Amino acid sequence: MKILILNAGSSSLKYQLMDMDGEKILAKGIVDRIGIPGSAIKQTVGDQVYTLSEPIPKHTDAIRLMLKALMDPEKGAIQNLDEIAAFGHRVLHGGEKFTGSILVTDEVKATIREYFPLGPLHNPPNLMGIEACQEAMPGMPNVAVFDTSFHQTMPKKAFLYGIPQDYYKRLQIRRYGFHGTSHRYVSKRVREFLDMPRDGSRIITCHLGNGSSLAAVKDGKCVDTSMGLTPLEGVIMGTRSGNLDPAVVQFIANSDNMTVDEVINICNKKSGLIGISGISSDMRDIDAAAEKGDENAILAQEMLVHSIRKYIGAYAAVLGGVDVIVFTAGIGENNTDIRLQIMEGFEYLGAKIDPEKNKTRSEAVVSTDDSKVKICVIPTNEELVIARDTLAIVTGKEISD
Ligand code: ADP
Repeated sequence: MKILILNAGSSSLKYQLMDMDGEKILAKGIVDRIGIPGSAIKQTVGDQVYTLSEPIPKHTDAIRLMLKALMDPEKGAIQNLDEIAAFGHRVLHGGEKFTGSILVTDEVKATIREYFPLGPLHNPPNLMGIEACQEAMPGMPNVAVFDTSFHQTMPKKAFLYGIPQDYYKRLQIRRYGFHGTSHRYVSKRVREFLDMPRDGSRIITCHLGNGSSLAAVKDGKCVDTSMGLTPLEGVIMGTRSGNLDPAVVQFIANSDNMTVDEVINICNKKSGLIGISGISSDMRDIDAAAEKGDENAILAQEMLVHSIRKYIGAYAAVLGGVDVIVFTAGIGENNTDIRLQIMEGFEYLGAKIDPEKNKTRSEAVVSTDDSKVKICVIPTNEELVIARDTLAIVTGKEISD
């Protein structure tokens, strides 16, 4: 059975076609610059690359072009659209109503729309992607997989902010958390990898990419996570500030005669690594500059590491100890130096990284043999989770957690 996995952004559409017999990737592609001059599609099937540049005004056009590319006689992956059994969509915000993945109905679409204010940059294009698929292939099942749903098991004491409860009740202001599909995948995968039972397990997952978040996972369930109402909360990221005294926003707005929206925009887009270093939001550029002795790049590295270490310490406390610390995503999987710096001096917690084993970029235990806490690298695979959930839902099977 073949499942098509989609991640629709405001001007791009990423997709993967997966054969669920053996979970093989058949095709991968991206439609870029939807609605912007210079739009194009690029698809890879094995070593065949299909590219086409033409105006792509809307998401429906992007879906049509994607289906055409997938069926291309020479560089495609399928001969007939009937070969696709279902579409699985990544959706950012599922609010409190979606605690797991779900078959898309009109009611589900209405709820995704209801959450537009909570995910203003992502939920509208996510829904557009779903509707474009429904238009292109009526009758085809669509499944929505939410970035927030894994975190819905957090207890109230962890997800509420310390502000009057009226704001939660009336405006649904609370910590939701994001990257849930990734935290869910790596926390489960690491248990399989280590042959560890779910019950009793205490795992800290560190998803460190452009956007970064950590989660505390107990008995397979998320009990706390670092991102909040929006992905701005938590550790320092590529362009996001992470945690901030909210009075900072007021202070800057008043001093520089800016609106709250303008200051928040700075916190989202011009802060974090780029804001501190003044060089780049990409860790590779920061590392290169730090290597040459750039003080601000070194400071950006130090601040990133410091903010992540604080969460690891906090989550060890939340979990009542920790069995496994997992690193994933662009920085977590590839940046061996940052992993070393993050784990330095955690011996008091029973976690000792092995500098030799740590040289890996693939699935591995990187702690020393005598480390009580296992430190692991687990490459994330959000697409696989979306494909598995979609398959389970369309075949009426239980979703495995
Ligand atoms: P996103 O959050 O956009 O999915 P990624 O998970 O790819 O992003 O993370 C991007 C970050 O990971 C960047 O800071 C980049 O420097 C780092 N990164 C990605 N790939 C590598 C690599 N091969 N080697 C070192 N760092 C990498």
